[in-house]
Amino acid sequence: MTNLQMVDLTTQYKKIKKEMDTAILDVIQSGKYINGEAVQEFTFELAEYTGAYYVIPCANGTDALQISLMALNLLPGDEVIVPAFTYAATAEAIALLRLTPVLVDVDPLTFTIDIEKIEEAISSKTRAIIPVHLFGQCADMEPLLSIAKNYGIAVIEDNAQSIGSVYTFSDGTTKQAGTMGEVGTLSFFPSKNLGCYGDGGAILTNNEELAQKLKMIASHGQIHKYIHEIVGCNSRLDTLQAAILKIKLPYLNQYIEARRKVAQSYTIGLKRLTDLIQLPSVRENSSHVYHQYTLKIKGNNRDKLQKYLAEKNIPTMVYYPLPLHKQPAFSNILRKGGELSESVKLCESVLSLPIHTEMESEQLLYIIEQIANYG
Ligand SMILES: *Cc1c(COP(=O)(O)O)cnc(C)c1O
Repeated sequence: MTNLQMVDLTTQYKKIKKEMDTAILDVIQSGKYINGEAVQEFTFELAEYTGAYYVIPCANGTDALQISLMALNLLPGDEVIVPAFTYAATAEAIALLRLTPVLVDVDPLTFTIDIEKIEEAISSKTRAIIPVHLFGQCADMEPLLSIAKNYGIAVIEDNAQSIGSVYTFSDGTTKQAGTMGEVGTLSFFPSKNLGCYGDGGAILTNNEELAQKLKMIASHGQIHKYIHEIVGCNSRLDTLQAAILKIKLPYLNQYIEARRKVAQSYTIGLKRLTDLIQLPSVRENSSHVYHQYTLKIKGNNRDKLQKYLAEKNIPTMVYYPLPLHKQPAFSNILRKGGELSESVKLCESVLSLPIHTEMESEQLLYIIEQIANYG
């Protein structure tokens, strides 16, 4: 059995090595390292894959959030609602712009923002909400979009983790994660479901005016070279990363299927251990692309189980050990939009198992067996 890892990017690379090496060499030989052809081409193909009208490439998923917020013309002190249980980047972009993150608790089963608790967090200063499609499934967007519409609040979907996840509305229409709000953000960090070989990101929108503005902001606030209309930043997806993503995008659905198979094996193998663990819940109106397979460990057993598995050479991770209001960087600048007890509990009890596109059935059986032995 191959050594267990949380993600295995090198085995994945070896399977597409030939076409990948050619694509990378082509870029190096072209000399067009910034804004080369592959950037346009990948952007076009990503629009096609997601169904978004406009795709603005940028340097990473954190920039994608920051640029999206910059495009909304918010003023210092304006409030942006975020789930308390997410990666810090979601709140960081808000804080950098001197906006106030307002935290809302998450649903203890799906770990996405608790729809029931959004309205009580809204104040006269609320301008935007950033639902996070956490671990691979969509936040419950239909009721969220309707609340946002009622209050005139912009929706930015943090879709760093769930590209390819599909949400079904009550009238039967479907949309991809990242294409339901005013804007959606993506990260191509190597370990994300569509990862490049460095940093990369993109912003999705269906709004032409917003698309122009996002593009301008990512490019020093200019449309015409050396005419800077607004204050922007420098955030580019470089040609090499775009060429790499262009090779990987056609494999994305296959990669998602591989992750689903791993998740299914875990779910079948672990389902009789309900005294010890809560398995991932998939909401009926969203598909799951399993960026993470995250268990909730009952009875204060999380740290003990993690240590036990480490002794058996099974790596696991705690995503995330602290809710945003307990992060030193944010604790003084945010506002709690209500009680955050579920987020606190999750940070004390979640445990993510290895999941990636290259897992072997022998590895899965071993992991399941060891967890069963503990339980
Ligand atoms: C990874 C991630 C980000 C940041 O993306 P980077 O490309 O690393 O900047 C933002 N939000 C969430 C939820 C993420 O998982």
